[in-house]
Parts: sequence; structure tokens; C-alpha cells
Amino acid sequence: MAHVLVIDDQSHICTIIEHFLTAEGHTADLAENGRVGMQLAGLNAYDLVITDIVMPEHDGLEVIMGFKQLYPLVRIIAMTGGTARLNVGSLLTTAQFMGVDRVLAKPLDFIKLLTAVNEVLEIRA
Ligand SMILES: [Mg+2]
Repeated sequence: MAHVLVIDDQSHICTIIEHFLTAEGHTADLAENGRVGMQLAGLNAYDLVITDIVMPEHDGLEVIMGFKQLYPLVRIIAMTGGTARLNVGSLLTTAQFMGVDRVLAKPLDFIKLLTAVNEVLEIRA
């Protein structure tokens, strides 16, 4: 079972993802932005990070860059609903270019999320 870091500035998203992960037997730590997420990453060893992209105080692209530099073996799933100025496709393409394992558009399809989680953890195993 995996130790997962979930980063999203919408706390209900973190809570729902945690619910799905713990139901699958995983453990999850939650962070409300990239700054807090990177602090947790310095304290715990994670198998997987699920990060939102658009967040205040260190966005998801900064999180991805930080993990690629500091913890390159940790799997990453990036998710976003975009913004008024940045569309979903552009942000997810950027995340893919930065080397994340999976990308998901919001609103989240939680079945797709769990499939992505299982796939990236199997790749690691
Ligand atoms: Mg957000």
C-alpha cells in the first residue's frame, strides 16, 4: 500500500481523494498548497503525489519541478480545471512535458483517478 501526498487548495477535493485512497488501503497526507506540500515532502517519504496545478503559494508546476529535482522517483499525478486565462489542455500538456506520470482534468472522475493511481503504483512496483 502506498503513502500518498495530496495537494489541492480546495480542501473538499483533498478530503474526497483521501476518502478514495484510504478505502483502497493507502495512507494520505493532505496539503492546501504547494508550499505546505513541499514541507511535508521534506518530512515524509511518499510513493505518489497527486497535485492540483492552480494554487496560491507555490502552484502545481512548482511542485512538479521540486519533486523532479529533489525526489525524482516519486510518481506524480497532476490535475486541473484550468483558469479563465489558462485552459485545461495547456496546463496538463505543460505538466506532461515536465514528466508527470498521469494528468487528469477537473471536475475529477474518481474512477479515472483510482485507475491512474493503480497504474502508476504498478509501474513503480
Ligand atoms: Mg486549485
